[in-house]
Amino acid sequence: MPSQTAPGVFTQALPSYLDPNHLGPWGIYLQQVDRVAPYLGKLGRWVDTLKRPKRTLIVDVPIHLDNGTVAHFEGYRVQHNTSRGPGKGGVRFHQDVTLSEVMALSAWMSIKNAAVNVPYGGAKGGIRVDPKLLSRGELERVTRRYTSEIGIIIGPSKDIPAPDVNTNEQVMAWMMDTYSMNEGATATGVVTGKPVDLGGSLGRREATGRGVFTVGVEAARRIGLDVSRSRVAVQGFGNVGGVAGKLFAEAGARVVAVQDHGGTIYNEAGLHVPALLDHVGRHGSVAGFEGGGQVIPNEDFWGIPCDILIPAALEGQITDKNAGRIQARMVIEGANGPTTPQADDILHDRGVLVLPDVLANAGGVTVSYFEWVQDFSSFFWTEDEINARLVKIMKDAFSAVWQVSEDHKVSLRTATFIIACQRILHARDLRGLYP
Ligand code: NAD
Repeated sequence: MPSQTAPGVFTQALPSYLDPNHLGPWGIYLQQVDRVAPYLGKLGRWVDTLKRPKRTLIVDVPIHLDNGTVAHFEGYRVQHNTSRGPGKGGVRFHQDVTLSEVMALSAWMSIKNAAVNVPYGGAKGGIRVDPKLLSRGELERVTRRYTSEIGIIIGPSKDIPAPDVNTNEQVMAWMMDTYSMNEGATATGVVTGKPVDLGGSLGRREATGRGVFTVGVEAARRIGLDVSRSRVAVQGFGNVGGVAGKLFAEAGARVVAVQDHGGTIYNEAGLHVPALLDHVGRHGSVAGFEGGGQVIPNEDFWGIPCDILIPAALEGQITDKNAGRIQARMVIEGANGPTTPQADDILHDRGVLVLPDVLANAGGVTVSYFEWVQDFSSFFWTEDEINARLVKIMKDAFSAVWQVSEDHKVSLRTATFIIACQRILHARDLRGLYP
């Protein structure tokens, strides 16, 4: 109900997901934009563009379960901004997915894509479902129905989904096939993160972790931290955390702790990363790993002595409750939105360098961009070419962010937002408003 805020003035309360005081993921994103507003100059007149998603679609996803009953799941696709190009961002299958979360994730994709200067806007999707409770057939039916429902707004030149938490190459293959069946023609460019045999790119699976590693090495050099002698703790040992952990271990670092949904293991001397990856591949989690290391309580993970901490699971993990205990010199955000704004301030005050998600995990979308380009031209690059181009883009983006951070004496997160928001709003300004 609209409430009376002054004589004769009735104002409709903002829905909670648009309210900057509501600290869900979307509220956190809004606070981050507010911190950047003073640096936008004349482009500041467009800043509200960033505070509203361009397009939000909520869909019902009904499927037949194997037991013959019908189940309904809620699905979302949000296109936050398309000023610089088509929407781009992953699809998450998780029981806790909310609209606020998908909106924030789509906005962070706009920022991320602009930060590494790939010609995309930002989008994200998700289904509120626990895929671990579904059979393979049920998972395929959920994926196909969801794809069909969002088919009205996705497409190779409109919005290109990709994998995120609990989605993978197989899910992308089903999405590509469903979209193609509806279109009547094979459209490999509608999703990225596909199997290589279906137009996927070499190096895509490792790209996000490789990007995390690349910016981590660059930042370590600047703060005088020797990676080959460093201790690394990783939360989330999937696509992002697993690869980042492997690359740090290969560079000589000791991966001393790993936490995932199954628990936390610790080994001061360094965990055997290849054996742990093999265990996770076979059992789905670090739980039960017998290759050296002790199980510790999940809460103890945050206080572990280490030099580099990599949150690579879900958002909202580093909060005002645990930020004061973190001993690392550097946090590299592999996950999206793992640090709350309060925790960000605490880490900043304690001299812990935070490499923000919108820069640190941009390697995935960068190689997704390569995949999309390769699909359009039907000409495929070698893995060495892909990795070399990825590393160059990540290093260049990192250098630019570091420079802005020094120039304005702001955090790397605010510096990344400054660069990205300026690019997005400059595009907005050039395009003007229609009509
Ligand atoms: P994934 O499904 O491969 O792995 C997720 C990991 O998080 C698993 O190890 C899981 O056990 C762990 N996890 C889940 N719940 C947890 C909990 N409550 N506590 C501790 N660990 C938990 O997913 P991913 O693709 O590696 O994505 C991880 C994060 O990285 C997400 O925030 C995602 O948005 C972000 N990200 C992914 C990519 C990509 O290319 N995959 C790109 C950019 C950002």
